[in-house]
Amino acid sequence: MEMEIGPGIPRKCQCGALTIVLKSKTTQNPGRKFYQCGAISGPNHVFKWLDEAHLEEFDVLAKK
Ligand SMILES: [Zn+2]
Repeated sequence: MEMEIGPGIPRKCQCGALTIVLKSKTTQNPGRKFYQCGAISGPNHVFKWLDEAHLEEFDVLAKK
Protein backbone atom coordinates (compact mmCIF):
# COMPACT_ATOMS: atom_id res chain seq x y z
CA MET A 1 0.00 0.00 0.00
CA GLU A 2 1.35 3.35 -1.00
CA MET A 3 0.47 6.34 1.07
CA GLU A 4 0.07 9.63 -0.68
CA ILE A 5 1.10 12.85 0.92
CA GLY A 6 -1.55 15.31 -0.08
CA PRO A 7 -1.75 19.03 0.51
CA GLY A 8 -2.02 20.40 4.01
CA ILE A 9 -0.28 19.41 7.22
CA PRO A 10 1.86 16.29 6.75
CA ARG A 11 1.11 14.18 9.81
CA LYS A 12 2.99 11.17 8.63
CA CYS A 13 5.85 10.61 6.25
CA GLN A 14 5.45 8.11 3.43
CA CYS A 15 7.97 5.91 5.26
CA GLY A 16 5.44 5.61 8.10
CA ALA A 17 7.20 7.80 10.65
CA LEU A 18 5.35 10.64 12.30
CA THR A 19 6.48 14.09 11.31
CA ILE A 20 8.15 16.51 13.67
CA VAL A 21 8.36 20.31 13.67
CA LEU A 22 11.80 21.86 13.55
CA LYS A 23 13.11 25.38 13.26
CA SER A 24 15.24 26.40 10.32
CA LYS A 25 18.72 27.70 11.00
CA THR A 26 19.55 28.75 7.47
CA THR A 27 20.31 32.38 6.69
CA GLN A 28 17.55 32.44 4.05
CA ASN A 29 14.84 31.29 6.48
CA PRO A 30 16.03 31.94 10.03
CA GLY A 31 13.61 30.69 12.67
CA ARG A 32 11.11 29.51 10.06
CA LYS A 33 9.41 26.32 11.20
CA PHE A 34 9.01 23.25 9.06
CA TYR A 35 7.62 19.73 9.19
CA GLN A 36 10.09 16.96 8.69
CA CYS A 37 10.01 13.18 8.76
CA GLY A 38 10.70 12.11 12.34
CA ALA A 39 12.96 9.27 11.26
CA ILE A 40 15.03 10.33 8.28
CA SER A 41 15.80 13.66 6.67
CA GLY A 42 16.44 13.26 2.99
CA PRO A 43 14.86 12.79 -0.40
CA ASN A 44 11.49 10.97 -0.41
CA HIS A 45 10.84 12.03 3.18
CA VAL A 46 8.60 14.82 4.35
CA PHE A 47 9.89 18.34 4.29
CA LYS A 48 7.38 21.16 4.24
CA TRP A 49 7.36 24.70 5.57
CA LEU A 50 4.86 24.99 8.39
CA ASP A 51 3.31 28.25 7.16
CA GLU A 52 2.80 26.79 3.68
CA ALA A 53 1.34 23.57 5.09
CA HIS A 54 -1.09 25.57 7.21
CA LEU A 55 -2.19 27.67 4.25
CA GLU A 56 -2.80 24.50 2.26
CA GLU A 57 -4.69 22.95 5.17
CA PHE A 58 -6.92 26.02 5.34
CA ASP A 59 -7.56 25.67 1.62
CA VAL A 60 -8.41 21.98 1.96
CA LEU A 61 -10.85 22.64 4.80
CA ALA A 62 -12.44 25.55 2.95
CA LYS A 63 -13.26 23.26 0.03
CA LYS A 64 -15.01 20.66 2.20
ZN1 LIG B 1 10.21 9.44 6.31
